[in-house]
Amino acid sequence: MMTLAEVTSLTEGTARQYLEGLLWPDGPLCPRCKGKNATRIDGESARPGLLMCNDCRKQFTVTVGTIFEDSHIPLRSWVIAFQMMCASKKGVSAKQLQRQLGFGSYETAWFMCHRIRHAMQNGPLAELLKGSVECDETVGTLSNGPAVQLERLFSELAAQWRKETGMLSVIQQKAIHPAYQRIIGMGKPALPLIFQELQRKRDHWIWALRAITGEDAAKPEHNFKQAVDAWLEWGRTRGYV
Ligand SMILES: [Zn+2]
Repeated sequence: MMTLAEVTSLTEGTARQYLEGLLWPDGPLCPRCKGKNATRIDGESARPGLLMCNDCRKQFTVTVGTIFEDSHIPLRSWVIAFQMMCASKKGVSAKQLQRQLGFGSYETAWFMCHRIRHAMQNGPLAELLKGSVECDETVGTLSNGPAVQLERLFSELAAQWRKETGMLSVIQQKAIHPAYQRIIGMGKPALPLIFQELQRKRDHWIWALRAITGEDAAKPEHNFKQAVDAWLEWGRTRGYV
């Protein structure tokens, strides 16, 4: 664990070093082939923290495939949030996190809380944290106002969308429904909720997932069921499911 002074003096570079130490205690590990023989790629044109696997030639950084893989949120903020959530006996609310990190957006803080809490319970971080750090049950609790409102709004919109588009068979028509578009407009904070819905019922959430993430987990040759499976797998590896 870092002290508060160490945490607050973090730069992007030292935050990355900290994460590398945490996730790669035995040195860099290739996410594709699990090879341990990687070379750092320095130089002005290289992304910070970039490495290349000498076995399979894949380029990667420590954040690939982890909850920290989001270019909009500085690594420094992730590490501070992570430390706060581990260190606090009473748990940390998204509101506190927003204040501490000086975020304008409550949604971003909520999104981080949700993902860190999930990683503590399920991801590789859960293994790391076992025995070393007590993580409180209430960490990142969602029971405070705006988060509940977000979930409620999502449920209402999803229910409205299901009801009003149930008769439509064309996915394009379903996707242009205003309720569906508003869910897309909620952005990344909606992702855990969408995945929850998708697990419950295999509905047409793929368009929303694509629009929000800018990615496509499914392959063109996939049928609907395979595409949903691919997206659920995508969500699992990133801590949303
Ligand atoms: Zn490799």
